[in-house]
Amino acid sequence: MINFSLKDKVAVITGGAGIICSTVGREFAEMGVKVALLDMAEDKAKEIAEEINAAGGEAIGVKVNVLEKASIQEACNIVMKRFGRVDILINGAGGNKPAATTSSELSFFDLPEDALQWVLNLNLLGTIYPSQVFGKIMVNQDSGSIVNISSMAAFTPLTNTIAYSAAKAAISNFTQWLATHMNQNYSKKIRVNAIAPGFLLTQQNYYLLCKEDGSSTERGQKVLNKTPMGRYGEPIELVGGIIYLCSDAASFVNGIVLPIDGGFLAYSGV
Ligand code: NAD
Repeated sequence: MINFSLKDKVAVITGGAGIICSTVGREFAEMGVKVALLDMAEDKAKEIAEEINAAGGEAIGVKVNVLEKASIQEACNIVMKRFGRVDILINGAGGNKPAATTSSELSFFDLPEDALQWVLNLNLLGTIYPSQVFGKIMVNQDSGSIVNISSMAAFTPLTNTIAYSAAKAAISNFTQWLATHMNQNYSKKIRVNAIAPGFLLTQQNYYLLCKEDGSSTERGQKVLNKTPMGRYGEPIELVGGIIYLCSDAASFVNGIVLPIDGGFLAYSGV
């Protein structure tokens, strides 16, 4: 029988205090997954873990900086002490910032180095480093599933978001690379995939898509026009795809980037 169950699996979720990945954590816990929410925002991660535990699930919140291997290793030690294994890694920490985004006030030529580095590092290295630390655990177990978070910006870059588009394209590339590398060198039972969310209205992009009164900016309207379903997605609508990729139902699915986008990628705009 096809098996979508993740019951009793152990999942590490970076960015676990964020909008998308806290939703993933909560839904995983509902399915009987033991969840470790890793985030720089330690208090928030712990708060969400407590809510999950109060609702009958099993979760811990752990402080991590995904840009420091020592910090990830420390978090890994805590997870291993508590749960003893890692079946799933969701690399959810990521994001963009206005200073790394061109606008009428900020030209491409003036984008500051620190902002470009922040976005490139957080998204790309912040996916690679945790994959090194938790991937090693998976190699020792001879099993595991890693899911990265790419973006529509990876397929064709979005205007203005230069560093974010480049970093997300690199995440899609790294997903294919690691899927192949793991199978060829370490284990045929480790799979590495990614999801590419379409447009969700979140803190990260609100300033680009909405005006102060809540109506669409010109860019927001363009996004809606290019999305055949004509609306933004909700964080919970990403979870089904992630569950699928982590489950045995996807046992032959490796190195893919799954769009979850209301049709954005399918429509040329014409
Ligand atoms: P979010 O800002 O709500 O969550 C990101 C989390 O990462 C935060 O809790 C933050 O504290 C944490 N974080 C940041 N830097 C960190 C670091 N160095 N170490 C550890 N944790 C760190 O963002 P979100 O909207 O939930 O996005 C999650 C992922 O989905 C990101 O990779 C984002 O790029 C991607 N994504 C989002 C959208 C969208 O529309 N929101 C679309 C496509 C992809």
